[in-house]
Amino acid sequence: MNIPTGWQVDIGLEIHAQLSTEAKIFSGASTTFGNAPNSQACAIDLGMPGVLPKVNAAAYEKAVRFGLGVSGTINRESRFDRKNYFYPDLPKGYQITQMDLPIVVGGHVTISNEDGTQKVIHITRAHLEEDAGKSIHDFKPTQTGVDLNRAGTPLLEIVSEPDLKNASEAVAYAKAIHHLLTYLDVCDGNMAEGSLRFDANISVRRVDAEALGVRSEIKNLNSFRFLEQAIHYEIERQIDTLSAGGVLAQDTRLFDPEKLETRAMRSKETATDYRYFPEPDLLPVKIDESFIDRIKASMPELSGTRASRFETSLGLPTADAQLLAGDRSLGDYFEQLATLSGQPRLAANWVKGDILSRLREQDLNISECPVSPEAMAELLGLTVENVVSGKTAKAVFAALWEGDAISASTYVKEHGLEQVSDTSAIEPLVTELLREHPKQADDLKAGKSKLMGFFVGKVMQATSGTANPQQVNEILRAKLGL
Ligand code: MN
Repeated sequence: MNIPTGWQVDIGLEIHAQLSTEAKIFSGASTTFGNAPNSQACAIDLGMPGVLPKVNAAAYEKAVRFGLGVSGTINRESRFDRKNYFYPDLPKGYQITQMDLPIVVGGHVTISNEDGTQKVIHITRAHLEEDAGKSIHDFKPTQTGVDLNRAGTPLLEIVSEPDLKNASEAVAYAKAIHHLLTYLDVCDGNMAEGSLRFDANISVRRVDAEALGVRSEIKNLNSFRFLEQAIHYEIERQIDTLSAGGVLAQDTRLFDPEKLETRAMRSKETATDYRYFPEPDLLPVKIDESFIDRIKASMPELSGTRASRFETSLGLPTADAQLLAGDRSLGDYFEQLATLSGQPRLAANWVKGDILSRLREQDLNISECPVSPEAMAELLGLTVENVVSGKTAKAVFAALWEGDAISASTYVKEHGLEQVSDTSAIEPLVTELLREHPKQADDLKAGKSKLMGFFVGKVMQATSGTANPQQVNEILRAKLGL
């Protein structure tokens, strides 16, 4: 969708990421998904009178990992606040969240636009909070059920600046955050289970207007596609209203994925509506340097850094480096293979080619790859030393994949697949072929260089693919005086 001339769009995202901790943020109840309704909400999650919440350190650790991952500031002292509101799936009547002193302040991620340009998106803050329960409307026709299993699940709410200027930038940013969260093992990223939800703040203004326009917040978008569709609809709705001389009201809206439209849910509340106040049952959380240092030491190399290292020190083309570094396990596999074989470029070609396509075919993960980096390195060694031709290498790879070979070298030996690099074995074959095909030999000599392929092909055929094609080439040239 193109934004109509004369207009500009400002989008900021609030992303709720469920932290992959075993226990809830203020209680020891399990966070496992999909269990029987209300089987894992304890008295603390329900806010029963007299119970006291206790902060789960694992949730803090995940939040700090994220903060370090986006180069944000980690607040050495953060605090929880109560956000008061009534909803059937929030029996306590308030949510414990962080208002004035969030755990992470600032930070940024870099997104790649469709045209290949890069853009830095700023993060305002990321704060910890608890999730609410879930109302179930399709349980009985005339009743609504409430499942409180999710109540108290730790969330990290990541708020961006309104740096996003269209739907595709918003989706690219959402994907970058999703990637980072899973890469750092902060969130499992499972969108179908609601581990990541997007709220989009969208406003439009004339290109020459300095102040941001009146914004609408579209709540709870749970897929990249819905995020994109909701933004498209909203941009059009707002521009149409303003163009017709109408006025926009700041509101909170819901997206209907079937009708592809947003609908007003309520007029936007302001902070005072929630009557925030410091959570009286929890002390401010102070974290010391050793806590942060320990997390820093456990952080993986970020994919951007890794990609540039693959490019500069291993000599990979940019696209290959980004592809291989984009997934942590894939990057690990490649790096191991590159180190063991001493052939980074060859390793990259195998991983992004044969290995990835077979994995995709069988819907497997790189961690489930049946050929280990060690076994692959041995195969790569055989090709580098010209023991097998490229074609044979593919056949050996297939055998390794199917489990028909113990190792590349034993398979090659057992099946007599060694490349014939012995001149004395190839030379008589070439002589014979030139005699059998005098016309082609003359044409080749006269400069019809395409016929080189004809003769090389014949030799390869006669040797069942074991001849070294480069060597055949050389012998041919020598014999014809080329
Ligand atoms: Mn929130």
